[in-house]
Amino acid sequence: MPYKEPAPIKDKDNPLESMMSRFDEAARKLGLDNETYTVLKNPVKQVVVSLPITMDNGKIKVFEGYRVIHSTILGPSKGGIRYDMGVNINEVKALAAWMTWKCAVVDIPYGGAKGGITCNPREMSKGEIERLTRAYTLAMSDIFGPDKDIPAPDMGTGPQEMAWLMDEYSKTKGMTVNAVVTGKPLVLGGSLGRPEATGRGVTVIALAAMEKLKMLPSKTSAAVQGFGNVGANTAQFLSERGITIKSISDLSGAYWNDKGIDIKDAIAYRDANRGSLEGYTEAEKMGDANGIITCAVDLLVPAATEDVIHSHNAPHIQAKLIVEGANGPTNASADDILSSRHITVVPDILANAGGVTVSYFEWVQNRLGLRWPLDRVNRRSDKIMVDAFEKVYATAKQYKVTLRTAAYIVAIDKVASCYKFRGGF
Ligand code: NAD
Repeated sequence: MPYKEPAPIKDKDNPLESMMSRFDEAARKLGLDNETYTVLKNPVKQVVVSLPITMDNGKIKVFEGYRVIHSTILGPSKGGIRYDMGVNINEVKALAAWMTWKCAVVDIPYGGAKGGITCNPREMSKGEIERLTRAYTLAMSDIFGPDKDIPAPDMGTGPQEMAWLMDEYSKTKGMTVNAVVTGKPLVLGGSLGRPEATGRGVTVIALAAMEKLKMLPSKTSAAVQGFGNVGANTAQFLSERGITIKSISDLSGAYWNDKGIDIKDAIAYRDANRGSLEGYTEAEKMGDANGIITCAVDLLVPAATEDVIHSHNAPHIQAKLIVEGANGPTNASADDILSSRHITVVPDILANAGGVTVSYFEWVQNRLGLRWPLDRVNRRSDKIMVDAFEKVYATAKQYKVTLRTAAYIVAIDKVASCYKFRGGF
């Protein structure tokens, strides 16, 4: 049976402080000068908009929308748009900076940005979400642009929202501009392989890390928290590679099957059940959904949301390898505990960079006006992910630091050296 966490304590860090403490540590190890440090820590632009939307009941509701551009040193800024009640400016700032480091780690020519709207899309009709997405796009039409700032999906958004965004932005320009956003439906210039790219990348990275740790896929069990785009695709790819997925979870709870869960079956169930695992009976429902973090598996993939690994549950984690599918699933207070317990953590900015990598391919294809076949997309993204992993791994050995600090060192070093060439005022 999986380990049951004694008390479901959640200690939510300020995501910005969490990100900054990692940035500070890497900057120190790298010996970054003060001026560059100050430039890199501050976002270049922060935009907050009010979006009055007519709801289906005829009443007007005002939503708050954000877009933060953290850096454009490496190129136009790139980052997803999140629809969630937890969206706030601090979270968006942290996620925007993460995007800068993520693009730098995988060596793609983008800066970092993030956007979001504080809303609960699960309680909104399709029409309400469409009106909200169009209003947000119009409000941000001076910010977005294929050479300026390129959004993508994140939690609570997907190809349909990106299609509305592209359409509304295109209206402001009087022509179709499909390179303004990635993660679009295939028929509108989306890339083959984009929907599953993040999960595929997480899997490629998990396998590379397992090889270093001499973990055989056929003898490895895993738990995947979150059963959305990243979680379900990761679970599917891992199981195709022979890893036994003993636990999965979503907002409805956590599910355990000691013999392994049939992921295809779970995905089919979810799709037929309005996107939820609620009522899934092929696995036992765990009393405490947070117990998935500490359950008895070798590999843990948090692929839901932030701060799920913290100082209270980190001492009880049984996995020897954690591969971060979500952004910021481990808060800074848990880092030292995991490292002292010799648990290897492959950080978000490396592990989930497969999505932005294939987003970059989508943008390249749109700009060239052509479409790459799936095997080309997969081959190129797998290589980028493996190369990035090897670079971070070698940096960790060189500086005698964790993979997380090493990933930040690789990223900050790259952005700082570009900044030195470009210069400021
Ligand atoms: P999604 O909306 O498709 O799915 C989120 C899933 O997590 C859902 O199954 C939801 O029920 C579940 N969930 C939410 N809170 C939970 C909780 N507290 N406990 C258990 N399950 C919970 O979102 P997604 O696109 O899969 O994104 C998941 C994470 O991955 C986010 O942190 C996101 O920033 C990150 N990410 C996404 C992409 C991408 O390409 N979609 C790329 C990089 C990183």
